[in-house]
Amino acid sequence: MDEDEGFVMLGRVVGDKSARFKHRWFGILQVETEEGQILSLYMSGSVAQWLKDGERVEVKVLKEREEGKEREGGQEILLFDEYELFKFCEERESSENEGRRGEEKSEGKGERKGEGQSEQSEKREIGEWKLKVWPVWEKVVRFERRDALDLNTLYEYDLRAREAIYESDYEEIAELEQYHYASQKEYVAVWRCEKCHELIEANTKPLCERCGTDEHVHILEIKGSTPASRFLLLELKKRSGYEPRVLGYVRIDPPVPQMHRRLPTDEIVRNIRESVFEPSWFEPSFSPERELKEIFAELRKERRSKKIARRMLWEEEKWRALEASNTAVSRIARVVIHPDYRSDGLGQLAVRLAVEWVKERCVPEMRRKKHLVEVIAQMARFNPFFEKAGFKYLWDTSGGKPVLYFPLTADAERKIQEFLRKDRFAKKHKGRLCKPSYGRVERLASPIILENVTKIYSNEMDLEGISPEVLAVLQAFQVKHRLIQREVLRNLSIRINPGEIVCVVGASGAGKTTFLRILAGAALKLDEAKFAPDAGEVKMPGNVRASVLIPGEFEPEFGEESIIEHVFGKCKDLNMAVEVLNTCGLSDAVLYRAKFKELSTGQKERAKIASLFAEKPNLIIVDEFAAHLDPLLARRIARKVGEMCRNAGTTLVVATHRPEVKDALAPDKILHIGYGTYFVEKRKK
Ligand SMILES: [Zn+2]
Repeated sequence: MDEDEGFVMLGRVVGDKSARFKHRWFGILQVETEEGQILSLYMSGSVAQWLKDGERVEVKVLKEREEGKEREGGQEILLFDEYELFKFCEERESSENEGRRGEEKSEGKGERKGEGQSEQSEKREIGEWKLKVWPVWEKVVRFERRDALDLNTLYEYDLRAREAIYESDYEEIAELEQYHYASQKEYVAVWRCEKCHELIEANTKPLCERCGTDEHVHILEIKGSTPASRFLLLELKKRSGYEPRVLGYVRIDPPVPQMHRRLPTDEIVRNIRESVFEPSWFEPSFSPERELKEIFAELRKERRSKKIARRMLWEEEKWRALEASNTAVSRIARVVIHPDYRSDGLGQLAVRLAVEWVKERCVPEMRRKKHLVEVIAQMARFNPFFEKAGFKYLWDTSGGKPVLYFPLTADAERKIQEFLRKDRFAKKHKGRLCKPSYGRVERLASPIILENVTKIYSNEMDLEGISPEVLAVLQAFQVKHRLIQREVLRNLSIRINPGEIVCVVGASGAGKTTFLRILAGAALKLDEAKFAPDAGEVKMPGNVRASVLIPGEFEPEFGEESIIEHVFGKCKDLNMAVEVLNTCGLSDAVLYRAKFKELSTGQKERAKIASLFAEKPNLIIVDEFAAHLDPLLARRIARKVGEMCRNAGTTLVVATHRPEVKDALAPDKILHIGYGTYFVEKRKK
């Protein structure tokens, strides 16, 4: 038999639910074929739990399996990669479209005649369509970052987006979640000991206290998720040892059961969605808590933690709630990107991929065609990645959170456009929420000009106090007490135009810092000799407002305040503070609220650069830019910082010895400095 061809069987879902969901990553779906054979399909529990008894399915067996392996208690077992599964769905129509869709249906009628053994009413059968269930959705994408000016590729990743199906996938998700909760007090996952059924809250695999081992402990739920949640992972296909396997994930849930709108006037409009879209799109949704408030309260009284009480409740109620849930809307409930990869546009990519997944597989329920993807997220005010992915902002919830929608059908698109056209508040915001707030700086009024600048460093070599042994060695090399004078810069001339990005490169000790020091001295009007050239002239525009970072000499001062307070204190605008932190690679709530002293060396460096930007200077001078960051992170931050300066009109002069940083900054000029010599390389435009 040809391995790709496989053979196809029609059947119905049978069997008990407890087999269907053993874990998120493992379940067994039983199917009785038309020939009366029982198939046990191994798949993830997150997928299997959505299939209902009696549902019609098609199983395509992909390859012949080893004899003997497949039979266990008279049942045929198909492992994860041995089959494809499709289910037949019946389209539920909204009253408004019934007439129009009716015509489409009559075309489908002919195609299905051959199978016409069903006694169902014509109307139901005609609306039937086939949906792929297994293997889970997967897509490989190449993600490229291009230079803003010449569009050359700066770097690229090969990524695989796919639904989480392995236990290790869920452990990775818990790992990613941890970045959001720096304090260990906040647990991100619920685990269960399969031996004694104890539920345990922990961030990584815990020991079961009763059994004294983690042998039977498995991850059960990720913080905030429900049994209805499904997860899309973004995996790095090829990676270096220091790179994570999973760069991020998106969680898809059914829509929230109820939504009211808070108008800018503070009035509340109840059930807003139902007046804008088809009411039937949003119901019935997954909401076990609503019916079970009392049991929940009781569990809480037994001093169970909220998370564990909710989990126990779900054990009771989840099957009913899962069976009931059948909406035409999906909700992006969470997007998490690894903190080191955030400034890259991966959030936007993850959202786009999740939308494709919803459209193709109708997740999470896999029951109705989806019209809309819903997002309720405060962070959408500060980060535009939903809007960049095509979402439209419509309104705020009664709790004040912005709600955005992505249309998957022409019908949904039309309703969104109509709302934006007619609603008196939407008319003003036009579907847009996040506005860039850094704006432009007052540009330097004229170029910075250095003419024939020479700087000589003097060093006194003192041999006193050196041990006789070392002295003997030095004398052997004829080293005597003397004054060492070294020309670090000689007759250096350069013109830096307003808004230019200039990169100073050269070996360490070659004179890069000396050059920056002279520039900083002139910009900050410092009198000390070390900032003044020994010969030559520096012309600085009168309106210069410089922020300087030369480690050990010029550094922003941080106190006990959180990073976000520090940046906000300087720029006085919260949106701008978040924007600046994001640009500098600190786009994480944990990092926002951390104190400077709690950050790692690399994070401290990013916080310092953010602090410079927050002053809204028109000249930024940075020595050893991105020195403590790994190459990819350094490149990403250099690119964002370069973009921000170009957008704002800020003149930027940075020293670096790293070629990847220089490339990502896309400088207008590169000043090569080497022990008294130099040349200026201009970038072709
Ligand atoms: Zn146990």
